[in-house]
Amino acid sequence: MSIARSLGIFIICDQDLPLRLKTASQLGITTAQVLAPPAEQRTPEKTVELQKAFADAGLTITVVFCGFPGESYADIPTVKRTVGLAPAETRAERLAEAKRISDFARRLGVDAIGLHIGFIPEEPDDPNYAPLVETVRELARYCSGNGQHLHLETGQETAETLLRFIKDVDAPNLAVNFDPANMILYGSGEPLPALRLLGRYVRSVHCKDARWSDTPGQEWGVETLLGEGQVNMAAFVAVLDEIGYQGPLTIEREIAGEEQARDIEKGVQLLRRLMGRQ
Ligand code: MG
Repeated sequence: MSIARSLGIFIICDQDLPLRLKTASQLGITTAQVLAPPAEQRTPEKTVELQKAFADAGLTITVVFCGFPGESYADIPTVKRTVGLAPAETRAERLAEAKRISDFARRLGVDAIGLHIGFIPEEPDDPNYAPLVETVRELARYCSGNGQHLHLETGQETAETLLRFIKDVDAPNLAVNFDPANMILYGSGEPLPALRLLGRYVRSVHCKDARWSDTPGQEWGVETLLGEGQVNMAAFVAVLDEIGYQGPLTIEREIAGEEQARDIEKGVQLLRRLMGRQ
């Protein structure tokens, strides 16, 4: 099945999985990105179960995302301190875990893993910059051995900094998961120029919307229903065309339960309209 320009949703594997799969199935969604479940749920038996659940729902998994124990998205300073491979004290253990998730994704037959690596230092002479480059290079090399791309999620730094970082890592399988709303939520730049700048590296996207905070970069903006924020989804889809993007349009809505399901349905309607499929 072709995944080009398919609709997708982001699914957290150990949160309401049956409801998520049902929602996707009923809406005719055919792809999903998943947040990898914790290690104890990645046994061979559970991996087969998971694979079957997605296949039964008619969903192809396109990217497996890494999350790490100890991460918190409570506020921007906490993200800086706790998320991804940027914090030095947890870097080695998280690199090892990301490699295990790459292996898990290979067993699922998925050719990409993704993650927030945390805040990339804006200045390359920051003492944390070179070790982060080296760590991501090592992870990219490991993913390459599993026949995978490694997708870095956008938003915690400017697009210029991410582009320089990608060039410094210099790994052929390093790519971008572009989340336009994160640029607004973290206050790290206008999403559409960022998308153009990173264009050739973008292999997956999150269709997510948000409004700027009054103090960008210090306090979160607010995530919204798709189309009600300040991304300008019509222009976002147009720029994806412009850069020749061929991957799925994966809806991410970071709320839970029935409300999430309703918002995803509205998001699907909007994207179908924008893609000229209605
Ligand atoms: Mg995202």
